[in-house]
Amino acid sequence: MKTIALANQKGGVAKSTTAANLGIGLARHGKKVLLIDADPQANLTQMLGWQQPDDLPITLSTQMEQIIMDEPFSPTAGILSHSEGVHLLPANIELASVEVTLVNTMSRETILRQYLSSLRNQYDYALIDCSPSLGMITINALTAANSVVIPVQAHYLPAKGLEQLLRTIAKVKKQLNPQLNLDGILLTMVDGRTNFAKEIGTLLRSTYGAKVLRTEIPQSVRLAETSVEGKSIYAYEPHGKAAGAYESLTKEVLSLDEREPKKHRSDLTR
Ligand code: ATP
Ligand code: MG
Repeated sequence: MKTIALANQKGGVAKSTTAANLGIGLARHGKKVLLIDADPQANLTQMLGWQQPDDLPITLSTQMEQIIMDEPFSPTAGILSHSEGVHLLPANIELASVEVTLVNTMSRETILRQYLSSLRNQYDYALIDCSPSLGMITINALTAANSVVIPVQAHYLPAKGLEQLLRTIAKVKKQLNPQLNLDGILLTMVDGRTNFAKEIGTLLRSTYGAKVLRTEIPQSVRLAETSVEGKSIYAYEPHGKAAGAYESLTKEVLSLDEREPKKHRSDLTR
């Protein structure tokens, strides 16, 4: 199982949208995919059609609490099945209190990793949708992951926030998770009509080189609309440019894994 964390402490950069559409994209290529909502805002859970996350009896926080208390747990409990072929471990607001509990927990950075290792034979991919923070749940996600994808909104110069995130990733890699790789920075909400969007793309590519994924996700009203429809862009507007872009992101992610066989991944440096 390859675990990918979608992380950026900046809000609204399309982490959740990318988790949903990359996850469903991978499932469309025959992969077994588990999506994990690791944000107490529960946007991913809602986007996939579970509109009342606070009513869900078992979520990521339930599972993490069991591990924190060292109680037996059933790893598949609470996992929901979406009609487009992915599974989802949902979240709700209770995850915010787990974040607080973690501060005084033994092995506090590895709780999510412990949970996921119990599922590693059941899925090809686990995608973790992080919240817009660098708090303990995000550190848990980075500690559990093999790779990070950083969505970056092409509207702003991401400079400082991105450097801070890259430093955090490097620190987690050094201290907690030597397997961690940066799979790439993903430009999202690219408005192809503006020079500004192009300049940000050029600047990121000249600064971070091959770490910037080839695929760019265009600005798309249709994509924004999917978030209330409970479905992916492939189901909502299959022949549009946004569906095409997420399909090419899916292929790019698949090709990264073909190029870097699993057993060698840990040898690669960032
Ligand atoms: P948060 O940090 O709050 O978790 P996020 O990084 O997960 O946010 P999303 O929720 O995926 O970001 O996206 C933010 C908003 O932008 C949503 O309303 C979403 O529908 C919209 N959006 C995402 N991608 C695009 C796009 N390519 N074009 C236009 N709107 C988009
Ligand atoms: Mg989100």
